[in-house]
Amino acid sequence: MKIETKEISFPVLKEKEVRLFIKRIDKIHPFVSGNKWFKLKYNLLEAKKQGLNTLLTFGGAYSNHIAATAFAAQEKGLKSIGIIRGEEHLPLNTTLRFAIENGMKLHYVSRSDYREKTSANFLEKLKAQFGDFYLIPEGGSNKLAIKGAAEILDSIDNQDYICCAVGTGGTIAGIINASNNKQTVIGFPAIKGFEQLKKDVRDWTNTVNYKFINDYVGNGYAKINIDLVDFINEFDATHNIPLDGIYTGKMMLGILDLVAKDYFPKASSILAIHSGGLQGNKGMSERLGIKLPL
Ligand SMILES: *Cc1c(COP(=O)(O)O)cnc(C)c1O
Repeated sequence: MKIETKEISFPVLKEKEVRLFIKRIDKIHPFVSGNKWFKLKYNLLEAKKQGLNTLLTFGGAYSNHIAATAFAAQEKGLKSIGIIRGEEHLPLNTTLRFAIENGMKLHYVSRSDYREKTSANFLEKLKAQFGDFYLIPEGGSNKLAIKGAAEILDSIDNQDYICCAVGTGGTIAGIINASNNKQTVIGFPAIKGFEQLKKDVRDWTNTVNYKFINDYVGNGYAKINIDLVDFINEFDATHNIPLDGIYTGKMMLGILDLVAKDYFPKASSILAIHSGGLQGNKGMSERLGIKLPL
């Protein structure tokens, strides 16, 4: 897939003599996060290979992964079931409406049941209720997702650093596996505590040319403040690139702050992966009544 990569200019980049490129995998779809696309690719093929015509997966009410799974399943002629954490709230928010419009059947479970979602017992109950399905974990990260995410990079992506936002770690794991040993991959977690994430990424990868920088997550997952909102809106106004408040906005703020703090050596180059996520902005705008690029 040919994906646009664009160099962006910023006073601090010029001052520090660092080049920054953005790979626009968000452009794959206006609503479905680009990285989710790569992560689903081989899972969809595997479901078909196993003769299963229904995908089942999990997520919260604003999950990018839920929306992406519904859309991808529909496109490939598969059915989809979304197990949603918590109670149904009507009217449905944009994410869940999008999922239903793309043929997903939603099933709400209590927060305590949701925690059991990987137990054999819970999965048996779901099978009894819905019949056979191809299971995709919450966030969509599994071996096949990582294989797909590795295709986010191609051979021309030879920058010194590759930066990406991190949720469950599948995307960065694929990118790490596809990077070369002269490159350093930097992950910006969207969650505060990330011990499990570190362990998962270690299990999914075979090199050590990566690190996590957790200084830009703010108060935690999907928590935003006015500085971040201002930054995102200004970035959109100057570069015409919409960032989101959960993943890519925090990453970009982090990259530019690290440049200002001389983290990157002079004459080095950075590739930032724009994974998408505008989906999340719709949710935030609906919930908080703030203005973010949509
Ligand atoms: C889901 C998502 C991520 C995180 O991907 P993981 O593979 O779960 O780490 C990053 N950016 C955006 C925009 C996303 O929607």
